[in-house]
Amino acid sequence: MLEYLPHTNPQVDALKVRFRGKRGGSKTGLLPVERYGMRLCAWCAKKPLATHSQKYCSQLCSQSSDAFFYPTKAGYPFLLARQGGQCAGCDLDWEPILIERFQKKIKRCEEAIARTKAKMDQDPERYKGDLMRDEYELEELRAKLENRGLSFWLALGIRHLIPYDQEPQVDHIIPVALGGDGVGLENHQVLCRLCHAKKTKQDNQDIRNAKTANAQRTKGELLGSK
Ligand SMILES: [Zn+2]
Ligand SMILES: [Zn+2]
Repeated sequence: MLEYLPHTNPQVDALKVRFRGKRGGSKTGLLPVERYGMRLCAWCAKKPLATHSQKYCSQLCSQSSDAFFYPTKAGYPFLLARQGGQCAGCDLDWEPILIERFQKKIKRCEEAIARTKAKMDQDPERYKGDLMRDEYELEELRAKLENRGLSFWLALGIRHLIPYDQEPQVDHIIPVALGGDGVGLENHQVLCRLCHAKKTKQDNQDIRNAKTANAQRTKGELLGSK
């Protein structure tokens, strides 16, 4: 399971407001918290930092921060994990596709190991290195499949793994043009390309309607003030 740690540094909330109605954000304004003469993690604001160049106390804090400030890029595997690998608009389930891909890779790796072992019967010394490398790779693949972590979900980005219309895309739930958050995971979701196209069409209609309503209100106010 891909873990996401919610922030506990108030600076992050201030930055979130700053990026409301904007596409994407930046975490350059996010700094370690100075408290009790200590520098604390810029994400959790709880743990002290060991060195001066350090900004986060752990990989969990660093990855959560990246996911928050760059939801369409670094946040994408976190959104997928949150949705259980399914499109938020239709029944499309990406997880079995990924499981199959990892299982195939594992099988190929196991076959390679079996071949090397057969060759080792004749000349053990020569193939020792190959065997070690393949066994290490097998272990890594199994762990990735088991953990459903960052690398598991990122594998969905591999070209030609899925049909064009089924490719995952990150969507702003409330469009940024209507004041939706540009950062944070709350206002983001993953949709398949087809669902995303439909949603974008509806969003654009909503944006046009909001503009018309705004223009009419302004006009009404001007007429009313005469
Ligand atoms: Zn931390
Ligand atoms: Zn869909």
